[in-house]
Amino acid sequence: MSFIAIDLDGTLLNDQNEISEENIKAIQSAQEKGFEVVISTGRAYFDVQMICEKAGISPFVIGTNGATIHAKNGECISSITLAKDCVESILQWLDERNYYYEVFTDQAIYALKKGKQQFSNEIQCLKSAELDTDIADLAKEAERQFDQFGYVLVESYHDILEQAEEFNNILACSFDKVKLEEARNQFKIVDELMVVSSADHNIEITNKRATKGMALEKLAFMLNGTLERAMAIGDSNNDISMFEKVGYNVAMGNAKDEIKAVCIMTTLTNVENGVAYAISRYMESFAAAK
Ligand code: CA
Repeated sequence: MSFIAIDLDGTLLNDQNEISEENIKAIQSAQEKGFEVVISTGRAYFDVQMICEKAGISPFVIGTNGATIHAKNGECISSITLAKDCVESILQWLDERNYYYEVFTDQAIYALKKGKQQFSNEIQCLKSAELDTDIADLAKEAERQFDQFGYVLVESYHDILEQAEEFNNILACSFDKVKLEEARNQFKIVDELMVVSSADHNIEITNKRATKGMALEKLAFMLNGTLERAMAIGDSNNDISMFEKVGYNVAMGNAKDEIKAVCIMTTLTNVENGVAYAISRYMESFAAAK
């Protein structure tokens, strides 16, 4: 058995946040040939589930950057959470400094009611400060941020802490690069935490034991498989942990050069069905090695 791990945003999803027919066919054909397809994303499971249902595919799902693993039938087979006191101190820090943030549980994505407005105010501020900033691009990026399923809007972070649910991930956003770096530096030095990014304007904070790579390794172990000949496809910093675990790592054509540099192959972009192309090349190499 071998594995094909695929990131979602900027990888399997096109710019309309959909999985193209060609990519669906490639996934189904790989599954028919006995490969285990694993969607591996920063998104929450319930959000991914909606996307997969719409596309008519049922893969394994590594969600919230490795904090959760769900089997093909939807059963949760692994969940790594953040301690509540840790969540409290992170949210307090972000809140005092006016960051836009989201908190992921297995039930919902919690955000502040004022969050979206806060986010667009920030874009307006940048517009007046930096003349070379492409505001239309930023606004598009901001809209993509809100294209997730499962939002619950609350008045303050205290409402989030009152939830009985376990916390898997905290995402903080800023289009102000200096401000975002401040948050990254604040949390990356904390022993219990892992900080990654799936886009230029965000950081994502999980338990240190939750990465896409560690989750993939765990899943392979659970299924008595190995990652030696597995393929991973992605476009961002939060994919590096899984690139390090597999024998065949593929960067998207739309990935940054630093991501392409750590992969053995670069495929087409996400709007050119780069996943389908990578899967077909991988199949060829698999067949040739037999
Ligand atoms: Ca991505």
